[in-house]
Amino acid sequence: MTTLRLDDGHRGDTIRRQVDVLVVGGGPCGLTAALAAARRGLSVELVEAAPSLGGMAASFTVAGQRVDLGSHRLHPSAPPGVLELLNGLLGSDLQARERNGRLRLRDRWVRFPLRPGDMARNLPPAFVIGAATDALIGPFRRATDDSYAEFVRAGLGSSTLTEFHGPMATKLWGLPPERLSAELARKRISQRTPTRILARVASTTRNRGATFLYPRHGYGQITERLAEAATEHGARLRTGCSVVSLAGDAHRPTATLSGGEAVTAGRVLWTAPADTLRNPLGLEPVPTPPMRGMVLVYVGIDQSRYTPFDAHYVPTPGIAFSRFSEPKNYRNGPDPADRSVLCFEIPCSFGDEIWSGADDGLVGLALDGLARLGLPTVRTVETAVRRLRSVYPVLTLDDAEPGEHPGSRTIRPGSEAVPGVTVLGRQGLAVADNLHHVIDMALSAVDCLDEDVQWRDDVWLGHRRRFEHFVVED
Ligand SMILES: Cc1cc2nc3c(=O)[nH]c(=O)nc-3n(C[C@H](O)[C@H](O)[C@H](O)COP(=O)(O)OP(=O)(O)OC[C@H]3O[C@@H](n4cnc5c(N)ncnc54)[C@H](O)[C@@H]3O)c2cc1C
Repeated sequence: MTTLRLDDGHRGDTIRRQVDVLVVGGGPCGLTAALAAARRGLSVELVEAAPSLGGMAASFTVAGQRVDLGSHRLHPSAPPGVLELLNGLLGSDLQARERNGRLRLRDRWVRFPLRPGDMARNLPPAFVIGAATDALIGPFRRATDDSYAEFVRAGLGSSTLTEFHGPMATKLWGLPPERLSAELARKRISQRTPTRILARVASTTRNRGATFLYPRHGYGQITERLAEAATEHGARLRTGCSVVSLAGDAHRPTATLSGGEAVTAGRVLWTAPADTLRNPLGLEPVPTPPMRGMVLVYVGIDQSRYTPFDAHYVPTPGIAFSRFSEPKNYRNGPDPADRSVLCFEIPCSFGDEIWSGADDGLVGLALDGLARLGLPTVRTVETAVRRLRSVYPVLTLDDAEPGEHPGSRTIRPGSEAVPGVTVLGRQGLAVADNLHHVIDMALSAVDCLDEDVQWRDDVWLGHRRRFEHFVVED
């Protein structure tokens, strides 16, 4: 990294640095990009606007326990390169755990992932008759439009739409599934026909359960290790810092940071929301694709365990949360023996009554949901609330082109759109991807830099086409 001190003629000395790669955003995508580039011997600077690193994949402490920003797991379907990286960083702290969730169907709980014996005992009889009929006539059903509702109805049938996917979509995106684009369902629902659901049930049974990976000290241990390793390899990571202007040519864009320094980079990798790139470029704001946010309510309780389940999926209308989870059940870690924490995910939109609700009111909403589900009351020892402004891009039937990437309406994601800048990551591309997807994006982006730090656009565009087929794992 070259640091020069030059007189800018106005404000005295301006610190000017030259780096090979400037990364914007310190979530898992940005941190992986910083680490991968630093490991190649490139000089790297990363700027994160928030006071701490980790983005949506960070952890923090409530009632003496590490908790995540909602239910997070690392999926074993992650590409080998991603698993190799994370196994190398976390070693035996990355634990393989058996999934043990449940979902609410009408007034019953059904184990999730589905298991034959439990389905026979607990699926509501009316649902079974409806789903069986749907399966029989499935081959003759066709979608009548490109909506979320028709995608689910044509593939899985009306019963699954009415009882689960429909109300869940309404909670997550704030609109009925008839108004949402099928593109959202294509990105989210991997078991799209009854045959595929049954094949998954059979494979889960054969393998005695479905597993996931999870770090001993909370999901945030992933980003913490990424940050430590990037620093060990010489990357400079800064928090509370953002880019206020961006200028220069395609070969060496110069970013002016909020502290006043100017950083000239061989390449800028932009993992922050795409609309935050318009301001430094001096471009007018454009209407961004609406994003659905989420309020996370944490309730520390005075008992060692609330249930043995990791996550509870609740599509039920009238209950504010879409899911609640018990972080302690995701790991075998150093958690307090006599306490547990419940984390409630309440989807909302920026500025609405949930988003702006007082913390104690939101805690009340979460506890009211437990009561409506007929679950035991809890003795609360500590509570916390966190707000995530941009979680799910909302694509409606009216405004989506089939196959369209929501982020492409904010700023074109190809590097040709903004000279010297590549937009990537969940926020950059406005896609609801998993952590392993954004790590894959970051590794792919660094691979596109040749030995002279020249960007190989054709290789990147090939990766971009691959990213469009990512399907979110739950
Ligand atoms: C409730 C929930 C559950 C999830 N469950 C799972 C799961 O089970 N498994 C899984 O794999 N994934 C899961 N995910 C997804 C996973 O958390 C994300 O895909 C991943 O964290 C995205 O990483 P990112 O780096 O692309 O974006 P982010 O983590 O959002 O990081 C972007 C960073 O950019 C920063 N930033 C914003 N503006 C600026 C600016 N102007 N300048 C500088 N920095 C800026 C932000 O502060 C943030 O730190 C879940 C997400 C949520 C919300």
